[in-house]
Amino acid sequence: MRSSINLLNNAIKFTPQGGNIEISSVEFDDFLEMRIKDTGIGIAPDHLDKIFDKFYQIDSTSTRKAGGGGLGLVITRSIIEGQGGTIRVESTPDFGTTFIFTLGK
Ligand code: ADP
Repeated sequence: MRSSINLLNNAIKFTPQGGNIEISSVEFDDFLEMRIKDTGIGIAPDHLDKIFDKFYQIDSTSTRKAGGGGLGLVITRSIIEGQGGTIRVESTPDFGTTFIFTLGK
């Protein structure tokens, strides 16, 4: 599914070698909650609410490997919300990031 592939690509891009990426899901009555959790570089709190904005990238230093165009999460969110789902993110710099989204059954 397109939206989870984008999230997985980011998890791979922003997790240094030796890190860990975990995909899990929990089933509720009407929907599934999916989690894509990485142990990568994380996202500082002041950036967290902006990463879903069009063309937003945190910076273009080599650590963050600015490969994309800052559109990945915009597209991901619009696909998920277009299907009636929600997406949110939790992150701690230097410890990792978890994207949590829902999918209708
Ligand atoms: P791009 O397509 O340029 O990667 P995105 O919209 O997918 O843009 O992501 C926006 C910004 O959010 C990225 O530039 C990156 O800094 C940050 N980001 C996204 N996913 C992660 C992640 N798993 N870990 C750390 N930073 C992330």
